[in-house]
Amino acid sequence: MTIALPADDIRAAASVDRSIRLITAGAASGQTCAPELAKGPWEFDAGTVGYGPGSSMGDVIPAGSPRQGALPREYREAGDDELRQRIRAAKATLGDRVLVLGHFYQRDEVIEHADFTGDSFQLANAAKGRPDAEAIVFCGVHFMAETADLLSTARQAVILPNLAAGCSMADMADESSVEECWEQLEEVYGDLTATDASGRVPVIPVTYMNSSAALKGFVGRHGGIVCTSSNARTVLEWAFERGQRVLFFPDQHLGRNTAKAMGVPLERMPMWNPRRAFGGSTPAELDEARVILWHGFCSVHKRFTVDQIARARAEHPGVTVIVHPECPMPVVDAADAAGSTDFIVKAIQAAPPGSTFAIGTEINLVQRLAAEYPQHSIFCLDPVVCPCSTMYRIHPGYLAWVLEELVAGRIVNRITVPDTVADPARLALERMLAAKPPASPPTAPAGA
Ligand code: SF4
Repeated sequence: MTIALPADDIRAAASVDRSIRLITAGAASGQTCAPELAKGPWEFDAGTVGYGPGSSMGDVIPAGSPRQGALPREYREAGDDELRQRIRAAKATLGDRVLVLGHFYQRDEVIEHADFTGDSFQLANAAKGRPDAEAIVFCGVHFMAETADLLSTARQAVILPNLAAGCSMADMADESSVEECWEQLEEVYGDLTATDASGRVPVIPVTYMNSSAALKGFVGRHGGIVCTSSNARTVLEWAFERGQRVLFFPDQHLGRNTAKAMGVPLERMPMWNPRRAFGGSTPAELDEARVILWHGFCSVHKRFTVDQIARARAEHPGVTVIVHPECPMPVVDAADAAGSTDFIVKAIQAAPPGSTFAIGTEINLVQRLAAEYPQHSIFCLDPVVCPCSTMYRIHPGYLAWVLEELVAGRIVNRITVPDTVADPARLALERMLAAKPPASPPTAPAGA
C-alpha cells in the first residue's frame, strides 16, 4: 500500500533511513539520490571502487584505503528491533567500560544508542573527558576516530564500527600530494623556514579537522595548525600573524568563505590542483597569494545551490536560510547565515517559536532538528534525500557487532595513530586550542 505522504511530511515524521526505505518501496512520495541506500551498507563494503550510494557516490576511493571485512550473517539478517535490543543489552553489560559517540550526521537508528552526540571535535573532547572508558566506539568517519585516538589515553581502544566509513573530502588531500606541494612551494618561495622583517615565514599550512592524522602531523611538523568550521577565522588570524600566506587544505570552500569574510580578495586565493605543476598557478600568482586553496570539497555540501535558496524564499516567505561553510561561496553569499553544525543547532534553539528555517547541511541532522523542534518549521534546502555516503556506512548491524565482540573480550576495528604521526598531530591540535580570537575582531565572519 502506498502512503501518499508528501516529501515534507516524510522529512518531519520519519528518520532518514525510514524515509529512504518508504520512498524506495514506493510507499511514499519523495526522491532519493540512490535507491541502493535502502540496502544494508555491507552490500557496498567490498569490491566497490567508489564510496557507495549517497552524496559521495561519484568520488573514487584512493588505493590503500581501509576495507571492511565481511559482517557476520547474523547481523546482516537481524531486523531493526533485534539489533536495537542486542545493542542495548551489550551496552548494559559493558556499562562504563564503553563510550558510544554519535556524529550529528549519523542515522537516528545509531544516534539513539549514543552517549554523546556532536560534531567531530566535540566528540573527540567527549572521549578525552572519559578516561575511565576502556573502549570508545566512534559512530562517525575514519578521521574522527583518529582524532579521538589522538586525544584519548593509550590504554583506550577507539573503534570505528565500519572501516569503510572514510571521508571523500579528507581523502582529496593525501600526505604525498601535500608533501609534493610543499616542495614546489619551496621552489617558489625559497627556504620555507626563513622569516621576513616582520618575523613571518613564507607560508603556514592549515588543515581542516576533516583530514587524516597524517596531515595533522604534517602541519604540526611545519609550524602549522588545525582548524574547525567553528574557529576557522581565529585560526587564519593566528596563521597570518606568523606567515605571509596560508596553504589551506583539504576544503577549498571553508578556506575561501572564511578568508573572503576576512577581506582577502578572491584573486589572491589561487587554487592548488595537485595534478598540475605548481597547482596550476604561475609563480607570480603564488607570490601574490594570501591563501592557497587545496582542490578539495565535501560532496554533501556541494549539493546545495543558489537556486534552492531562491525556491525556499519564494515558497516560504520569511524563511531563514542557514548553510554550512563547506558550501560553495555563492551559496554562502546567498544565505542569511553560515556556520558550523553547532552554530546551526544554536541558531534554531535561540529562535522564537514559529520560525521557519531552510538548512544547508547533511539531511540526518536537518531531519532530526525538525523532529526535535516542532515549534519551528525546519527543512533541508536540498529536496532530494541524499545522506553522506560514508556516515551512512555505520549501520546498527555494525554497532551491534563491535559491541558484542567487546562483551566477548575482543576488540575489532581498532583505529590507532602511530606515535611518529600522533606527536606532531597533537602539537597542531594544541596550537588550535591555544589560538584566541583578536581582542577586536574587524568584522563579523560569514561562514566561519
Ligand atoms: S559530510 Fe562531507 S566532510 Fe563530512 S564525512 Fe561526509 S563527505 Fe566527509
